[in-house]
Amino acid sequence: MADKKPAAWQLELESRAVNATDWEPLPGMVKKRCGQCRYWFAVLAAEAETTSRCPDCVGFGTRPPRSRSNGGQNYAGV
Ligand SMILES: [Zn+2]
Repeated sequence: MADKKPAAWQLELESRAVNATDWEPLPGMVKKRCGQCRYWFAVLAAEAETTSRCPDCVGFGTRPPRSRSNGGQNYAGV
């Protein structure tokens, strides 16, 4: 049984390979390297000074804690 869906580690390898190439950020954005995972990412030039981590790392840190009162279904309005 051949599994044609690439494994997570394969996607990761591919995105890292692309990430390592000399890609250009969109106009108005600058390229920054995540201080946590060392991944290159694009950020708005205005936010470059205050941003030191990639959206992935920031997302892990800012995800709201699960509410106990409603079973964690507090994402409806986001
Ligand atoms: Zn990161």
